[in-house]
Amino acid sequence: MHVTLLGTMGWMPSDRRETTSFLWHDERSLFILDAGTGLRRLLEAPQAALLEGHDEVHLFLTHYHLDHVCGLAYLPGVLPGRRLVIHAAAESVTGVDPERAVGGLLRKPYNPRDWEELEDIRVEALAAGSNVVAGHIVGVRAQQHSDVSVAYRFDDELVLATDTRADLGTAEFAAGAHVLLHEAWYNGADPLTEASPPELRPGYAAHSEAAAVARIAADADVGRLVLMHLNPLHDDAYHQRLAAAARAGFARTELHPDGAVLDTSAAL
Ligand SMILES: [Zn+2]
Ligand SMILES: [Zn+2]
Repeated sequence: MHVTLLGTMGWMPSDRRETTSFLWHDERSLFILDAGTGLRRLLEAPQAALLEGHDEVHLFLTHYHLDHVCGLAYLPGVLPGRRLVIHAAAESVTGVDPERAVGGLLRKPYNPRDWEELEDIRVEALAAGSNVVAGHIVGVRAQQHSDVSVAYRFDDELVLATDTRADLGTAEFAAGAHVLLHEAWYNGADPLTEASPPELRPGYAAHSEAAAVARIAADADVGRLVLMHLNPLHDDAYHQRLAAAARAGFARTELHPDGAVLDTSAAL
């Protein structure tokens, strides 16, 4: 399968990077991972053509922070006439009932229509550990964030670990995966990181440092590490230095613009 990077920024979009969303796809399956502002890129070529022939779409949410769910408001426009299954971790994993959480977002006065009126959308709760969705094995693992988020593993091809502090347990979960999409919020070696205002420090504690992410990728021996959920308060030069810092610990580290398409079917 292939993964298209629809949104690689965290928190707020920039003029070049949307907030978190990915499309994992082949002729049979269409999986969307998180519904940030990047979901709008489903309207762009070539993604729009990829949607053709897919009547059923599966959307996986890592957690409910707004930068990961605001694209739910775009669904009638970007996926018209499709059956949509929204998957999120069960209440036993996150402490939040998925149907109540999604229904709470898709509800007046936040959305023009109430959840109960929306046809062709249903919510399914995923257990911690292994699940089977549309013939794929979907692994779910709770992470450490300011609210509970989960990492996903899709077969042996793709792992998404975002909105988490760097956690060596992720290495075991991601072991041998072809592509690891991991957040990288800051570069501990960069003087600009030290200069960030104290009121933003709690956010840093809930996110990942680049060199620590590289250690996870090396421990997991993934095929390639792709950094995402970048910090919008920093510029492209900072993000490039952050990628270089990770690359020093794990040579197969990559940083891509939105719209990049990666083959996940083999290690490289
Ligand atoms: Zn986020
Ligand atoms: Zn978050």
